[in-house]
Amino acid sequence: MNVPEIFGSDVFNESVMRERLPKETYKALKKTIADGKPLDIELANVVANAMKDWAVEKGATHYTHWFQPMTGLTAEKLDSFITPTEDGHVIMEFSGKELIKGEADASSFPSGGLRATFEARGYTAWDATSYAFIKERTLCIPTAFCSYNGEALDKKTPLLKSMEAINRAALRILKMFGSNATRVIANCGAEQEYFLVDREMYSHRKDLIFTGRTLYGAPAPKGQELEDHYFGTIKTRVAAYMRDVDEQLWRLGIYAKTKHNEVAPSQHELAPIFSTANIATDHNQLTMEIMKRTARKHGFKCLLHEKPFAGINGSGKHNNWSLSTNTGMNLLDPGKTPAENAQFLLFLVAIIKAVNDYQDILRASVATAGNDHRLGANEAPPAIISIFLGDELTGILEAIAHGDRYEGKRVEMEIGVDVLPHFPKDTTDRNRTSPFAFTGNKFEFRMPGSRLSCGGPITVINTIVASVLDGFADELEKAADFREALEELIKREYKSNSRIVFNGNGYSDAWEDEASRRGLLNLRSTPSSVPCLCAEKNIRLFSKYGVYSAAELRSRVEILLDEYCKTLNIEALTMIDMAKKDILPAAASYIKELSKTAALAKELGADISFESDLVKRLSTLSAQTYKKLGDLENTLAKCKEIRGVQEQANYYHDKVFTAMGELRASADQIEALVGEKYWPYPTYGALLFYVM
Ligand code: ADP
Ligand code: MG
Repeated sequence: MNVPEIFGSDVFNESVMRERLPKETYKALKKTIADGKPLDIELANVVANAMKDWAVEKGATHYTHWFQPMTGLTAEKLDSFITPTEDGHVIMEFSGKELIKGEADASSFPSGGLRATFEARGYTAWDATSYAFIKERTLCIPTAFCSYNGEALDKKTPLLKSMEAINRAALRILKMFGSNATRVIANCGAEQEYFLVDREMYSHRKDLIFTGRTLYGAPAPKGQELEDHYFGTIKTRVAAYMRDVDEQLWRLGIYAKTKHNEVAPSQHELAPIFSTANIATDHNQLTMEIMKRTARKHGFKCLLHEKPFAGINGSGKHNNWSLSTNTGMNLLDPGKTPAENAQFLLFLVAIIKAVNDYQDILRASVATAGNDHRLGANEAPPAIISIFLGDELTGILEAIAHGDRYEGKRVEMEIGVDVLPHFPKDTTDRNRTSPFAFTGNKFEFRMPGSRLSCGGPITVINTIVASVLDGFADELEKAADFREALEELIKREYKSNSRIVFNGNGYSDAWEDEASRRGLLNLRSTPSSVPCLCAEKNIRLFSKYGVYSAAELRSRVEILLDEYCKTLNIEALTMIDMAKKDILPAAASYIKELSKTAALAKELGADISFESDLVKRLSTLSAQTYKKLGDLENTLAKCKEIRGVQEQANYYHDKVFTAMGELRASADQIEALVGEKYWPYPTYGALLFYVM
């Protein structure tokens, strides 16, 4: 495989554009993209034609506006390029109009009341900052998706708006530091965790098929306690799969870089080199899609659920985030000179304040039924937002705030006179338990779950930081003495927001108590965190930047809560089905077999204590499971009586979820007793360890 040769070969990128477009068109297109202006139709016609010729040469027959509805997946409706000719033949055509704007029937996508089903029209519009590409013989045009009235129905539109917000706000700050940058870009690098299970075994698990996670399952004799999987040698079959995925990603111009085994058995990670946040988001969506598709080819099922197995680690998607300028500067790099230091400290304090002021929406941005298992549930770390800075950086900020000594050396009152030390990514105090960690020259937001689009969390981070930076700029632009005001501001803001900084073990019980003393939020579930999006201050924030209107926020809350209820409903129904049709019958057959054996053995005068003891225990457990099954059914039946999506979500969380847990606990005990060949499902041991 010649990687440089295949890299980006399925992408209509810079070099293809330069080669295929007339010089003037190319220049005009570049300028339109750089200015963020809409494409005019003549330009679009030329571009569309060149795109089509290129795609057809590569074997494409269809095109699609590829978009990201609020389901968190991607959507596409394929149209072929064929246009009939008078003589009964066809030619391949693609117009500028078709490139710029698509009309999608929006009625079956979640809109949370933004658009009545009868008002089915929705539009998709090309996001020209993300290149078109070919996938499965289809030319895919990355697009934003909105309703007839222009309300965003997708994850991309708000992300693009938030990128504009942080661009403007950060430029105001940079200007005061004398920078000649004209654009600030939000970057994202998304580490993608996933599980691979054998496809044949998967096909025998209704829970995995219907819900993506195991709803039952007694622990295997071995878990992740030996920590022998993390960075371990990759099994041959898995390695072949990873190679295949890499190649497809490279063809699509995705910088797949790192791959390794994760902590849990059968868990792996893939990380690309970071890029501009909207492109990284598109690329991550593609990555997930390709990971799933390729798994089939290799006899695997790729599980992207946040918590497929109880008792072992779930899967996250760490969003690494930073800001850089078009002059090539990383604004989160402490820098080498005092001036850069002061600027860095200002951005740092802005982020600290943003995270402290908006803990609620950061938490809400990662809330899903699946991710609740990773945040705030039984075995998971708490759902508290805090920032890890490391002892050194914290020490410096503390010293500045209190004007005292740091490392025996007086920190000059004038910020930036001392050169900050460099903070390598792998400092000794690297902390893996922090939800929002500074790692040398970027922040790593670790709360997002493995299936989540990066769009949501990055939109929130961009917007909250933009808002704080704007506030800082308002103050500093007015100041008579910039340096003095800057120093005052950094001091003041660090002091008043430092409660959010925590460098200790975020997984410890002690932290929950400490966090509550500090007054930090601990929003344990989706139903308790999602409504924050509509808090007065948050509506003000998002509408100020045009990221989400009040109506859009309300619709999103509705969609998220509705999705939560539906997810739990499917899980509960699946549990009921499995218990009724498979688990209790399995227990019954085993009991029957044991009883028959016991009867025969008794005639022979043999010791039947084993059979009779087991029959008794299994009968008791079966009766108990049957009872819990009935409880769950009754609990579920009451859902229909509850009015209001928030009340429903609360009910699912408090009642249904609890009843599910009880049924599972009981059934898992049966699994531990029933003979292997009677058990209807591949066990945890088989799913997690039998892949060769
Ligand atoms: P780890 O698992 O130790 O956190 P990885 O190498 O797996 O590290 O992932 C780090 C991710 O962060 C990669 O996707 C990488 O490209 C990304 N990254 C590195 N520097 C930046 C940056 N300045 N801005 C955003 N993302 C970054
Ligand atoms: Mg990481």
